[in-house]
Amino acid sequence: MKEKNIKTYGFKTEIKQLLNIMIHSLYSNKEIFLRELISNSSDAIDKLRFNSISNPNLYKKIDKPLIKISIDDKKKILKIEDNGIGMTKEEVINNLGTIAKSGTKEFIESLNKKENKKNNMIGKFGVGFYSSFMVANKVSVYTKSALNEQEAIFWVSKGEGEYSIETTKKKNNGTEINLYLRPEELHFLNYNVIENIINKYSNHISIPIKMEIKDKKNKKKEWKKINKAKALWIINKNNISKENYIDFYKNKFNEIDEPLIWSHNFVEGKFEYINLIYIPSTLPRQIWNKDYKGELKLYVQRVFIMEDVKQFLPYYLRFIKGIIDSNDLPLNVSREILQNNNIIKNIRLSLTKRIINMIKKLSKDENKFKIFWNKFGLILKEGVVEDLINKKDIINLLRFSSSFNKDDSTKIISLKDYVSRMKTNQDKIYFITADNFKSAKNSPHLELFYKEKIEVLLLFDRIDEWVINNIIEFEGKKFQSISISDDSLEKLINKSKKIDKNEKNYFLNFLNRIKIILKNKVKDIKINYNIVDTNPVMIKTDINDISTQMSKLLKSVGQKSPKIKYILEINPNNKLIQKICKIKDDKIFKNWIEFLLNQALLIEQGYLNNPNKFIKIINKLLLIK
Ligand code: ADP
Ligand code: MG
Repeated sequence: MKEKNIKTYGFKTEIKQLLNIMIHSLYSNKEIFLRELISNSSDAIDKLRFNSISNPNLYKKIDKPLIKISIDDKKKILKIEDNGIGMTKEEVINNLGTIAKSGTKEFIESLNKKENKKNNMIGKFGVGFYSSFMVANKVSVYTKSALNEQEAIFWVSKGEGEYSIETTKKKNNGTEINLYLRPEELHFLNYNVIENIINKYSNHISIPIKMEIKDKKNKKKEWKKINKAKALWIINKNNISKENYIDFYKNKFNEIDEPLIWSHNFVEGKFEYINLIYIPSTLPRQIWNKDYKGELKLYVQRVFIMEDVKQFLPYYLRFIKGIIDSNDLPLNVSREILQNNNIIKNIRLSLTKRIINMIKKLSKDENKFKIFWNKFGLILKEGVVEDLINKKDIINLLRFSSSFNKDDSTKIISLKDYVSRMKTNQDKIYFITADNFKSAKNSPHLELFYKEKIEVLLLFDRIDEWVINNIIEFEGKKFQSISISDDSLEKLINKSKKIDKNEKNYFLNFLNRIKIILKNKVKDIKINYNIVDTNPVMIKTDINDISTQMSKLLKSVGQKSPKIKYILEINPNNKLIQKICKIKDDKIFKNWIEFLLNQALLIEQGYLNNPNKFIKIINKLLLIK
């Protein structure tokens, strides 16, 4: 009769793929399977605790949370057991039969990339439950949900493409996992080995982990607690070592790299809370997703409540990982309550200040700050617009590339650096925006500045112009785009040559001829004696117009951008211009002028609306004898 209960299912393809990797894994740290299973048990107990807040019937089930580990030498089984929330049949099928977890999905995706060796990658991702197949050739899960008392489930699989499920009975809620160890992994049947692994990876788990140990004298078995079972963040700072903080971070947030910096505080006063916050050294994988929740975990009186960074920090600090534990918030706190809560507002303000100070501290360490800025600079920039209270501090933390940097695109110049190097009579901060470092660095607008040794900030992150528009000025100095026409430059430039009247008239004639041809296509045409010789023409944007980069930004977010009419500037010192001046034939002259306008547009925008036409003009000009 019992067989009727058993049903066999096939794993989804992606799980088969994952299992195959686990079974054949040569990964040297196979012991991490224990960390994964203990972390699942601890999560399950947290979930039960959280559910019991709104469901008093569950209260009695959580009075002694416990994770138990035992060894069966004869059957070669390692057993991990918890009294957490357990799983219903549907949950078993969903949670253990599909890959819902984005981390695991990414693990599989990353394997398809050639440069990743699969064995190194296992440690980088939280591969979860399936890691047990690295050490076991059969795994069974015996579980009863605390929310559904009717039946228990027995799940078993050899990891070979199938699993079977049986409905059965179990006394208490929770989950028991049996690992039938592979012959070559029997060293895990040793208490000391297990104890060491737990000390290495799972000491921060705040739930007691007990192991069944034989008393040598009496030959009786007894349960011994083997972890500290105290949340790290409630321990006095003096009793926590640097390694403790780093291990906790790596375990809690599934990281392999060390954090850049952290801060642990017991905040007292009107509102009391503990925070332990870290600045990571790697960019969280999902950070550009719109609904990214971040990894700032809220606990109330040690009970995990939720993870949603938006509630506690401005969004430009969403890369922060850490823990807040409040004694003042009610345990049944919901997102809605949080939104208008004074305690939260208070935590948010002080936490933000604290993090800004952490970043300031980091900025004194050049190497670490370089890592920080490369990873998180783009996100921090959003703060200039988002956070008016801390705007000034954030602006001081910004770093830029500079025209004084040789061929390296690392952003290391602060606005303070820039201002301290300004020329004596310079009263503006010059910048150029472009699509990338190279096109910024090679922009014809810069040539004059190179010649005059005036520093220019090179901006090539998409949001840069928007950020600069929000800074407005720094230490009393206004920002000036060098692609926008600007009279202030005149006084900074060494004029070497005096221009005589005849020459002026000669070019005025030329100018008038061009104006007839281009009158509808440009806003204005000017002779500019300051353009460096190599460029025949250059385009500037009128002060009142929107810049090219801004227009691109608007278009990229799906907004309409007004059509820009540029100012065309002509370099009378350029040989090509001097040649074109002499052309009598109106048709040929017109082609040359069109050619000049389009080359200037191409350099300014990086594209042309009608490249075909441009090429045809060039081809025509090339044929002229
Ligand atoms: P993750 O823990 O990151 O979600 P896992 O592969 O480790 O991924 O586990 C998959 C899911 O299986 C968990 O999210 C959880 O829902 C369920 N699960 C695993 N172990 C347990 C357990 N001991 N008790 C209850 N549910 C569990
Ligand atoms: Mg897990």
